[in-house]
Amino acid sequence: MKKRERLGIGMTSQRTRQRLVERLREAGIRDERVLNAIAQVPRHLFVDEALASRAYEDTALPIGFGQTISQPYVVALMTEALMADGNPQRVLEIGTGCGYQTAVLSLLTERVYTVERVQELFRYSRDRLFQLGYRNVQSRYGDGFEGWPDHAPYDGILTTAATAQTPQSLLDQLADGGRLVLPLGQRQQQSLTVLRRLDDAVEQRALAAVKFVPLVTGVN
Ligand code: SAH
Repeated sequence: MKKRERLGIGMTSQRTRQRLVERLREAGIRDERVLNAIAQVPRHLFVDEALASRAYEDTALPIGFGQTISQPYVVALMTEALMADGNPQRVLEIGTGCGYQTAVLSLLTERVYTVERVQELFRYSRDRLFQLGYRNVQSRYGDGFEGWPDHAPYDGILTTAATAQTPQSLLDQLADGGRLVLPLGQRQQQSLTVLRRLDDAVEQRALAAVKFVPLVTGVN
């Protein structure tokens, strides 16, 4: 796509983005901080140019390598759950993908650490996030099942791919009072779950039925 056309999308996107925000509000997203962040992040620059015109529909889209950018409603719901009792300053994201959720988190927190197991996605998202000016993000190519122990503990951890069980490593890297938001379950039946660590106890609550790609062990 030529630069002018790209700018054209850029010009209309503020309005289309606002429409998406209204849709999310109607769907029940209440946290104004989250809605505000979604209003600011240019989702069309995170997907392939051929899909840019669909970027503000409330739908998941392919990002290559058999992966998808999450539906905006789900991004909003997860972020809202992560932020529910305050202002997490240090957040870990597992499954960077195209980096859209990372960008939303970057506007809401002090520092975002993000891990991706597909090398090309890791590179694309790292470069894209940097070019778009999201400078409080640190990206890592690796297996998110291990978390990122070097920077632990985290006030919040968000996983954008599903596992049958909560990885113990992620629980271990959660600060006291911190929240872990992740899709739990098998391929067709997953539940977006919020875990909260309080001393040595873990509180768990199911939020919604969701469908994510699976968290895969190892790197690619
Ligand atoms: N938040 C992303 C969602 C991408 S889909 C976005 O908005 O684009 C989930 C991502 O998790 C994929 O990119 C996939 O490669 C990645 N993933 C799967 N298993 C992983 C693992 N063990 N460690 C790190 N990333 C993983």
